[in-house]
Amino acid sequence: MKLPISFEFFPPKTPEGETKLRSVSQDLSAWHPAFFSVTFGAGGSTQEGSLRTVEWLLQSGFDAAPHLSCVGASEDRLREQIRHYQAIGVKRIVALRGDLPSGYGQMGSFRYASDLVSFIRQTAGDAFHIEVACYPETHPQAKSPQADIDALAIKVKAGANSAITQYFYNSDAYFRLVDDAYAKGVEVPIVPGIMPILSATQLMRFSDACGAEIPRWIRLRLQSFGDDTASIKAFGHDVVTDLCEQLITAGVPGLHFYTMNQSQAVGNILKALSARLT
Ligand code: FAD
Repeated sequence: MKLPISFEFFPPKTPEGETKLRSVSQDLSAWHPAFFSVTFGAGGSTQEGSLRTVEWLLQSGFDAAPHLSCVGASEDRLREQIRHYQAIGVKRIVALRGDLPSGYGQMGSFRYASDLVSFIRQTAGDAFHIEVACYPETHPQAKSPQADIDALAIKVKAGANSAITQYFYNSDAYFRLVDDAYAKGVEVPIVPGIMPILSATQLMRFSDACGAEIPRWIRLRLQSFGDDTASIKAFGHDVVTDLCEQLITAGVPGLHFYTMNQSQAVGNILKALSARLT
């Protein structure tokens, strides 16, 4: 059976970004993805853009999965969004807590993503396949690694059908998460999130913010390339392709690519893996 592939986009902020994303989604559709997911800015910054992007993906005939976060949002607002997604034909939602931009005080009706999962089930029954997030290297605010696994188990018990991981470059962290989650009774697919390496500075910035570790050997090599973007991309391609090969060999239930709204790096990785994808 073909390995399920999915691609994540963020909502473009400009007309040029929208035009580019249309062409990126066409390029990536050649890989017959299970779905394209679209991120959602907690606190409101990109929410209109998320909805617009989801709508044109659906109109283009693709399965679009909006991310929906509960932090800072009222129950009424979330109900409205869930019902709207149901009405326009969305079949899958990535349900998250989200992170509020700094200085944004309001917490909203729900505290954790598990509350949002329960609320989606309460509002829309089984209308959606619900994805949730999980963290091979532990969420930065978790009390402990075990507490973070427990949080995943609570989300699954609340009605999540599958999980997508934060990105990682150390496959052992993913395998440990899967084992620990299974021991805790989590039997839903845990799909690894894959971040292609496009720019060293961007990757370091993201990783500091989300708690994903760049192993020392990768960090030092990236730093040694300086501004030589061709070498960064070539090295990044090898590292991420090798990681995907290890994951496929271990029998992962799919691969979810953080595309950064670009098709070339992901397309090259998939080409290199193509014999392993069927
Ligand atoms: P939760 O599952 O609620 O967990 C948050 C923290 O609370 C964790 O430390 C957890 O251990 C702890 N916790 C959970 N439940 C309990 C409990 N019952 N008791 C005690 N502690 C608990 N952010 C966005 O803003 N927009 C996006 O579109 C977006 N997409 C993402 C997609 C993926 C695949 C991933 C991995 C992350 C994404 N994020 C996004 C980031 C995410 O919102 C942040 O990592 C956020 O800090 C946590 O979200 P969560 O859904 O994992 O929260």
